[in-house]
Amino acid sequence: MGRVVFIGAGPGAADLITLRGARVLAQAEVVLFDALTDPALRAFAPDANWVHVGKRGFADSTGQATINALLVRHAREAGLVVRLKGGDPSVFGRLEEELEALAAAGIDCEVVPGVTAALAAAAETRRPLTRRGTGRSVTLSTAMTREGALQVGTKGHHADTEVFYMAGRQLAALARRLRKAGWAADTPVSVVSRAGWPDALASAHSLATLGQATVLHSGRPTVVTVGAGAAAVSRTRSESPLLEAGQEPEETLSA
Ligand code: SAH
Repeated sequence: MGRVVFIGAGPGAADLITLRGARVLAQAEVVLFDALTDPALRAFAPDANWVHVGKRGFADSTGQATINALLVRHAREAGLVVRLKGGDPSVFGRLEEELEALAAAGIDCEVVPGVTAALAAAAETRRPLTRRGTGRSVTLSTAMTREGALQVGTKGHHADTEVFYMAGRQLAALARRLRKAGWAADTPVSVVSRAGWPDALASAHSLATLGQATVLHSGRPTVVTVGAGAAAVSRTRSESPLLEAGQEPEETLSA
């Protein structure tokens, strides 16, 4: 009976995986990997059997059941199975279901953390998620329900900085919901797609103009940071690489 190690691949380019993740990956016999992981990671385990179990957007329950079954089957046949997930496995990664499936089958496992998209976006834009005095709390939220509907609580905001995953397709609707939840129209919002990749794009908005980001980030994995952590730091201390709201996006940011 083998064991399974969940590894966070990081949000983008292969070198954002942790050293521990890369070392364990190098020992894998089988790697079950997601769509959002960098193909260059194969170089760490060229002889392993790489099995694509990726899905973009929403995994339906059948897809997830198939992945769970594959994990259990490979773990029974192989020594070390790596489950490679984009970003961090514990953040919107369906880790719970996979851990439950392994526990039910009596299979040993371990989790190696990774850099989640919210952190890569903050790095990309040089906009720290926490700020002394004004940014004392951060939430990671999904804007989507299981059925794919937009969902944002309307009973006030929960943290000084709120980061929304899976919101790229509904930025205008997200902005309306956040306004209803009590955020002011001039609240800073930072939108970053493909953070951590060489072709990352970032744009700066206010809630009032967030809808304008839709075209720029269309079809790309995107996180939306709202509130204290989305504000530019003082220009006297550091040049912001972000486009200002309303400006034509011409620039491709590099990591
Ligand atoms: N476990 C992942 C999240 C998986 S859910 C993590 O920790 O990052 C998929 C969502 O993550 C996408 O819809 C998008 O909102 C976000 N995401 C993943 N990779 C991203 C990237 N490189 N840049 C911006 N957002 C990303």
